[in-house]
Amino acid sequence: MLLEELRQKVVDYGNQLISSGLTVGTAGNISMFDPETGYMVISPSGIPYAKTTAEDVVVMDLKGNIIESDRKPSSENGLHAAFYLEKPEARAVVHAHSMYCTTLACAGIDLQATHYAIADAGVATLPTIPYATYGTPELAELVREELRESDSKAFLMANHGMVAYGDSLEKAFAMAMTAEWCAQVQWRAMAISVPNILTDEQMDEVIEHYKTYGQAKTDDKSSQGYFG
Ligand SMILES: [Zn+2]
Repeated sequence: MLLEELRQKVVDYGNQLISSGLTVGTAGNISMFDPETGYMVISPSGIPYAKTTAEDVVVMDLKGNIIESDRKPSSENGLHAAFYLEKPEARAVVHAHSMYCTTLACAGIDLQATHYAIADAGVATLPTIPYATYGTPELAELVREELRESDSKAFLMANHGMVAYGDSLEKAFAMAMTAEWCAQVQWRAMAISVPNILTDEQMDEVIEHYKTYGQAKTDDKSSQGYFG
């Protein structure tokens, strides 16, 4: 089986998408990129995570051709490929319809620096990718356009959900968790008051601090960002 190790990891983290509460049902999807072959491996379409096996995970090239698997790939394979085409360091992408990120994205509210932990994304406010129908080349193109302009590691997707990437699946998943946690904090703060948003200067300082003191994050075990 081609890229068996990566395909198994997509299965394992697919189960974590459910157990962490980041997604429900078959929503959301995960991919990984193998720089040696230039292929990505991605969740299959419409199979419950608990029933997905490594064989079900689809191997594709970045032009949308299936290299190995009898299954249909996630309809968002173009969106995932956009990250590997635009960000040379990207090795994994996590897309979820997580409750709080999706709530903000449906209300047209930016995920801001209500809590400093959003600095994990390397920015103070997550960019929002404009709306297009799910699974379409139009949506993938909007993602590519956003990625050319932004260094953020996570994005809201208008009226859809969120997407995060990283140089490992551990980091991409941790980024998705942090973004969701920050979205929930912001939602709660907005429910009781007007949140105090950290200033650009305050966030620049946190982002700089993360860079300087982030050595521990190169180790997978401690790459859980704010949650570590
Ligand atoms: Zn989606």
